[in-house]
Amino acid sequence: MTDYDYDLFVIGAGSGGVRASRMAAGYGARVAVAEERYLGGTCVNVGCVPKKLLVCASAFADHYREASGFGWTAGEPAFDWAQLIANKDREIERLNGIYRGLLDSAGVELFEGRARLLDPHTVEIEHGENGRRRVSSDQILIAVGSWPDMPPISGIEHAISSNEAFYLERLPERVVVVGGGYIGVEFAGIFAGLGSQVTLIYRGPLFLRGFDEEVRTHLAEEMSSRGIELRFGCQVESIEKLAGSAADRLRLHLDDGDSVDCGEVLYATGRTPLVADLGLENCGVVVGENGEVLVDEFSRSNVPNIWAIGDVTDRLNLTPVAIHEAMCLARTLFAGEPTPVDHETVATAVFSQPPLAAVGLIEEEARARYGEVDVYRSRFRPLKLTLTDNQERTLVKLIVDRSSGRVLGAHMLGADAPEIIQGLAVAVKMGATKDDFDAAMAIHPTSAEEFVTLR
Ligand code: NDP
Repeated sequence: MTDYDYDLFVIGAGSGGVRASRMAAGYGARVAVAEERYLGGTCVNVGCVPKKLLVCASAFADHYREASGFGWTAGEPAFDWAQLIANKDREIERLNGIYRGLLDSAGVELFEGRARLLDPHTVEIEHGENGRRRVSSDQILIAVGSWPDMPPISGIEHAISSNEAFYLERLPERVVVVGGGYIGVEFAGIFAGLGSQVTLIYRGPLFLRGFDEEVRTHLAEEMSSRGIELRFGCQVESIEKLAGSAADRLRLHLDDGDSVDCGEVLYATGRTPLVADLGLENCGVVVGENGEVLVDEFSRSNVPNIWAIGDVTDRLNLTPVAIHEAMCLARTLFAGEPTPVDHETVATAVFSQPPLAAVGLIEEEARARYGEVDVYRSRFRPLKLTLTDNQERTLVKLIVDRSSGRVLGAHMLGADAPEIIQGLAVAVKMGATKDDFDAAMAIHPTSAEEFVTLR
């Protein structure tokens, strides 16, 4: 027990901040958390959760198309964007309530307002009409997340980010997505599945840099065959507002001299840590080039009682990673168990259509780290599609260290890839070998069985 008002003050009630608060309180700490926007942060409000709901909605396009192959006939399907968004909003509101309840039942005090550090132990919270309040805390945790980054090109004010995409009043007829990362690829699939005409513009030669090259190439083919126009190797130079109809109200001028007209342009060109006006300079907290709070393996900043987790540290910007960092931190601070974060062999998925998922190393990384590696792959038409005219192929791939037989990476593109890779992630994290995979009996007929029958 210290003389401060709290043992831990957390700034930001997103996935990381909420988990750290609850766990710290569970260890007996007196904890408060400040949130200026929405409980649950990006993931719950304008990220993973609503995104997955939209992905599910857009997947019905395939289900309806494929149904006739199985003897089903139904009327012409109709889609109502407003209905989807209203239902999604209701679910998000329910989740906000759950987060509030979780904090409450853990005994964490919630300040709904903007928090700012005045010195390493003093936080000022602005409550709107309720004015300002100053509190003191022994330890401070910064878990404020990140915000979409919009490049400063002419006309960028006409573009939207993923934040606004979740609240569009109507489904755009023609939409351009700029960026070849998670968000760009996922939204291109969502809009295309729901019926928009989609162009994805990416500055490099092939999107999803960092993922397995064969998987990326295969995904590009599948997305093209679904009618998404992929324009790689070009950049948008400016956005011009036209007088035309809603479908063509914007013209994008590209650096290859071409132009594209559309109703909406969604920028998904990365996110920046939300550190502006947080008062870090009042405490001497050192940040990196993009504003990320620089921390050690325990998530501690250069100021001994100030810690940071999640996107604001720009390490591995994924919700489950932020939650892991939160749990390590709570143990380190309040359970007497210094616990470094573990960023090795993190499974991840892109909810593209078809989805892709991966755990462990890609081929190039595996070769660089381990020397000789064996690569096993299978490309096949999933059983479910054999009665349909959908020509989609699934790709599964294992990267194996030749000398030890250890599976270094598992990659998949195809239906249920995230569900399948999540299971395999346990084996890969435990250090399973190719022999271990082979010793597992197949579940037939599944796509997942390909992973234990690769020759
Ligand atoms: P990413 O960092 O994944 O991708 C950004 C993309 O934009 C890259 O293709 C990048 O190109 C490109 N880019 C960056 N700057 C510019 C620029 N000035 N002009 C043109 N293109 C540019 O960011 P996202 O916005 O897609 O996602 C943000 C974060 O959210 C990710 O880091 C991810 O961790 C997380 N996320 C995770 C999801 C999941 O787990 N399924 C889903 C959605 C988001 P280049 O490759 O050349 O650098």
